[in-house]
Amino acid sequence: MGRAFVYVIVGGGVAAGYAALEFTRKGVSDGELCIISDEPVAPYERPALSKGFLLPEDPTRLPSFHTCVGANDEILTPKWYKEHGIELVLGTRVKSVDARRLTLVTSTGETITYNFLIIATGARALKLEEFGVEGSDAENVCYLRDLSDADRLATVIQSSSNGNAVVIGGGYIGMECAASLVINKINVTMVLAGAHCMARLFTPKIATFYEDYYMGKGVKFIKGTVLTSFEFDSDKKLPADLVVVGIGIRPNISLFEGQLTIEKGGIKVNSQMQSSESSVYAIGDVATFPVKLYGEMRRLEHVDFARKSARHAVSAIMEPEKTGEFDYLPCFYSRFFAFSWQFYGDHVGEVVHFGEYEDGEVFGAYWVKEGHLVGCFLEGGTKEQYETISKATQLKPAVTDMEELEREGLGFTQTV
Ligand code: FAD
Ligand code: NDP
Repeated sequence: MGRAFVYVIVGGGVAAGYAALEFTRKGVSDGELCIISDEPVAPYERPALSKGFLLPEDPTRLPSFHTCVGANDEILTPKWYKEHGIELVLGTRVKSVDARRLTLVTSTGETITYNFLIIATGARALKLEEFGVEGSDAENVCYLRDLSDADRLATVIQSSSNGNAVVIGGGYIGMECAASLVINKINVTMVLAGAHCMARLFTPKIATFYEDYYMGKGVKFIKGTVLTSFEFDSDKKLPADLVVVGIGIRPNISLFEGQLTIEKGGIKVNSQMQSSESSVYAIGDVATFPVKLYGEMRRLEHVDFARKSARHAVSAIMEPEKTGEFDYLPCFYSRFFAFSWQFYGDHVGEVVHFGEYEDGEVFGAYWVKEGHLVGCFLEGGTKEQYETISKATQLKPAVTDMEELEREGLGFTQTV
């Protein structure tokens, strides 16, 4: 025997937390909603793990970063879920789902039935073993996806003061963790597969600005190289007290393979975040959804999308007649050292740089495709400037003269 709920969310990360808040705002009744998570804590803002959580002084700790503090909203503690009649099943893995029969089975052996299922299982960190490198299960080799990884990394950092760290991967985890390690007085070498950090988004000019800053902080870069082996002996090739690996993720979709339509590595959903089974929705890292603005299916691995797709799915389930198509403008951001940038839109086409790259205070870039502005990156902007570039990018304004765009710089978005 098991329990029955109207709504079940499988996974208890960012998207689940924002969905829970939206359910209460739309008027869910006591006992109707259940969230099942294999993590032992209530949903939290994952971005904190590579930033405030790793600080040497006054590091951020739960409950201060439970969702939905990241959107300046309520902090949903376990007490909040109880008070709102939401069943929070923690430390429990969903082992199988029968999407046709509307049932699932958990690691405790319980069978749970539902009317609507929301998949919010996020992603797992890729392991070096998947690239043929053995040894990443060693004590001082750290990945960073969840709270237990972050606890472990923080402990290894504490015992490595003034030591050496190797960071593998120059993506988001690599850049943010390298900065946190430097702040913890650890010597950092970054090993990058490509010619630059964040090569998929940053232009060489943007990457060079940040890399120069990192080098000024003592960080060494080894580029165009992938790690081939670890050696745990005294004849070390790259001495390391600590290794942080950030080489990408894979969405957690295995429960649904063969049951739901999969596209671009994620669960294919429509503009209501609804999968190929009408009672099953997918949100966050795991969802491949139609980007209305570009007429394309995409999967996005960023927190703004997790939050907004969660709200949209709940609205589509609870108020279908009032919920239009999801019209999402991709938004990415990052913070390291005293820098903070945001990107909106699409990074395709021709690039125009603007602003003060020399002093590094406010600078950015536009992406222009087929005569229209499609993307904008801005470092060091104010809240108002970020709002302005976001609104302008959504409108895809015409750009007739690239030189004029360069001269106008950030001012261009104010004229849109
Ligand atoms: P997650 O938040 O990963 O949640 C998935 C949850 O499902 C997890 O709790 C997982 O344990 C659980 N789960 C999975 N399978 C099962 C199962 N079978 N049964 C039960 N539970 C299950 N994005 C930004 O835009 N800006 C940032 O600054 C930023 N910083 C980040 C820093 C770090 C260290 C990391 C790892 C990510 C960061 N991201 C950032 C990305 C962002 O956190 C993710 O896009 C977001 O968390 C996705 O939300 P989600 O709910 O889809 O998945
Ligand atoms: P990313 O996809 O951002 O970056 C992975 C990096 O690893 C890329 O630079 C890639 O190079 C490189 N790489 C891939 N394979 C290898 C290999 N075998 N050896 C060495 N380098 C390799 O993933 P991360 O791991 O940095 O981040 C994990 C997840 O967390 C992502 O979903 C990310 O969006 C999210 N995150 C987001 C943050 C934010 O938005 N601020 C902050 C932290 C995490 P190449 O590009 O050349 O393929």
